[in-house]
Amino acid sequence: MPDLRGRLGAGSVLKDYTWFRVGGPAEVLFSPADEADLAYFMKALPADVPVTTIGLGSNLLVRDGGIDGVVIRLGRGFNQIEVEEGSRLRVGTAVPDTKVARAAADAGIAGLAFYRGIPGGIGGALRMNGGAHGTETCDVLVEARAVDRSGNVHVLSVEDMGYTYRHCGAPEDYIFTEALFQGRPGDPAEILAEMDEIAAYREEVQPIKSRTGGSTFKNPQDNKSWQLIDAAGCRGLAVGDAKVSELHCNFLINEGNASAADLETLGETVRERVKETSGVQLEWEIKRLGKPA
Ligand SMILES: Cc1cc2nc3c(=O)[nH]c(=O)nc-3n(C[C@H](O)[C@H](O)[C@H](O)COP(=O)(O)OP(=O)(O)OC[C@H]3O[C@@H](n4cnc5c(N)ncnc54)[C@H](O)[C@@H]3O)c2cc1C
Repeated sequence: MPDLRGRLGAGSVLKDYTWFRVGGPAEVLFSPADEADLAYFMKALPADVPVTTIGLGSNLLVRDGGIDGVVIRLGRGFNQIEVEEGSRLRVGTAVPDTKVARAAADAGIAGLAFYRGIPGGIGGALRMNGGAHGTETCDVLVEARAVDRSGNVHVLSVEDMGYTYRHCGAPEDYIFTEALFQGRPGDPAEILAEMDEIAAYREEVQPIKSRTGGSTFKNPQDNKSWQLIDAAGCRGLAVGDAKVSELHCNFLINEGNASAADLETLGETVRERVKETSGVQLEWEIKRLGKPA
């Protein structure tokens, strides 16, 4: 690949890129320079090499044996934020959600303050239909750009994204590169006050300073996962250094030296106990990637 401009490395330890601080190595880690570089790389990469995309790692459990093939992590070339006419914001997918909330507030764009509470990046928000405080990504997205496994660039409308709760129906191989958001005119001071409220609330009810992956399980229809977990007696349950948070029992925490296997075993134990006590089968919201050690 003579014209490649991004950074390519072997054996990078992925625990450095995940909130849980667990995960084995990436066989190859690639950080493309920009969308054209990513498309060039995907075109040239042999079709049988597996590709996995990661964002800021706030919703990931990377297993201890690491990830085979190429792991793509978008960086500097995907950090742009542009304010457009009509209360719109066009952003690269490596931009943290909190920065999007802040840029929208500064530009007097209301409707994006909910991103203040989500610690991931916009690529992850597009893939997870990230949402909080009554708003989801699907409510504010106009369109997204993506590069597929063959290096073709696509522009997807919000309808093309096939969104449901914490799920995106766009093809699994699509790597999102840019998003266009629609807000509405607002007063910067009011938006900033709303963001402060969101931040204060988070600090009170979630273990946001811990090594965690956020909500572990999706909320089942008409139920709250944390209530089912609590009713199953799992608050504070531990496997090694992996523990169910005392503060918010749909959060798992790495208290120090937990392995990915400890966290996954704990999660599966919680699922079994919830099934036994309430009959509900919880579904993982956290994405588990890679192979066991
Ligand atoms: C303390 C805490 C609180 C949280 N609160 C919330 C909340 O309120 N609401 C909420 O929705 N989530 C919440 N989360 C979960 C998480 O922050 C979101 O799911 C977030 O959108 C994930 O973004 P990320 O960049 O960290 O993605 P990652 O965790 O790195 O990846 C998540 C998924 O997105 C995919 N992905 C990432 N980037 C791209 C890309 N560019 N193109 C294609 N696919 C990509 C990955 O392959 C993976 O499947 C919380 C997490 C923590 C740790």
